[in-house]
Amino acid sequence: MSIADNIKRLKNETDTIKVQLVAVSKTKPEEEIMEAYNAGQRVFGENMVQELMDKYEHLPKDIEWHLIGHLQSNKVKYIAPFISMIQSVDSLKLLQEIDKHAQKHNRVIDCLLQVYIADEETKYGLGFDEAIELLRSEEFAALKNVRIRGLMGIATNTGNEKQIKEEFYELKTFFDGIKLSFFRKENSFDTLSMGMSSDYKIAIEQGSNMVRLGSTIFGQRVIKN
Ligand SMILES: *Cc1c(COP(=O)(O)O)cnc(C)c1O
Repeated sequence: MSIADNIKRLKNETDTIKVQLVAVSKTKPEEEIMEAYNAGQRVFGENMVQELMDKYEHLPKDIEWHLIGHLQSNKVKYIAPFISMIQSVDSLKLLQEIDKHAQKHNRVIDCLLQVYIADEETKYGLGFDEAIELLRSEEFAALKNVRIRGLMGIATNTGNEKQIKEEFYELKTFFDGIKLSFFRKENSFDTLSMGMSSDYKIAIEQGSNMVRLGSTIFGQRVIKN
């Protein structure tokens, strides 16, 4: 199936159940992104700042770019003018830096807190306790140019479906608790980003409303990142 076919099929599948589709285009050339764009896709996810900036320069300006990979504080300035959502916020320090640069550009930047749910040492993210601590802090309360839209999580890379299901279930439960405790009056806290190509169906069953799909749309990546 072509990229365009994949987009049409997946958009159909997700639109009807109000799940947002983020097309993860990391490592993929601009022609392939344009094929997805021409099939109607507008939201794309990248994980490297330099690559994201190059693509932003060259591609249509109505694309909504999401950063889905670890972000170093010293690189926030490069994406602050145009990024639609930063899904990978994993510290208060980073959030403060995003706020600072958003303010310079007179913007409010939408962010997700990346929460650690996987049983793997290499994944970035806040622990449940750390996420709560961040949201409770006075430093967080002082930020005016970031808006926390929800949470993002990556399940363990395993064939064990039961484990994946449990990890997503935990994140959904945590999301509901956070919404009640900290964002009861804010309708904008509405996004639970969980699910990639290998596990997005399980994620949707467990309550995800944003999936990040790369290889299912564009085929396997040669460089793994
Ligand atoms: C690469 C990546 C994806 C997409 O992975 P696929 O398995 O190709 O769908 C989703 N989320 C994050 C955070 C990623 O880094």
